[in-house]
Amino acid sequence: MNKILQKLVMLQDLDYMIDEVKSKDVKIVQKKMGLKIKGDEKLHDARKALEQKIPPKVLSKYYKLMERFGRAVAPVVDNKCMGCYVTLPKRLSIRELGNRELRNCERCGRFLYWV
Ligand SMILES: [Zn+2]
Repeated sequence: MNKILQKLVMLQDLDYMIDEVKSKDVKIVQKKMGLKIKGDEKLHDARKALEQKIPPKVLSKYYKLMERFGRAVAPVVDNKCMGCYVTLPKRLSIRELGNRELRNCERCGRFLYWV
C-alpha cells in the first residue's frame, strides 16, 4: 500500500479512537472529578508523530474532508467508493494499482483504499 495512504488510514483510526476516549472520558470525569486518562495523551502523541509524516497538502485535504463528511478515507468495495457509492472507473478497479498511489474519489473527493 502507498505509504501516505497507509498513514491516512491510521490517522483516521486514531481520530476515531480519540473521539471514543473523549466520550468515555466525559463519563469517567463525571465520576471521578477531573482525573485525566493516560491513554488519551498517548493517542494524541501518536497522532502528532503521524501527522508529521504526512505532507501538509495531503493533511489539509484530510481535515477538509473530515470536516465535511466526518470521514476522509473510504474503502473501495465492489469497485464502489463506500463514501458516496459511486462506481469507480475501470482503470482504478485493480486493487494493487489502486493502493499503489494516493487517489481520491472523483465524486466525493475522499481518499480511497482498496480492501
Ligand atoms: Zn466517493
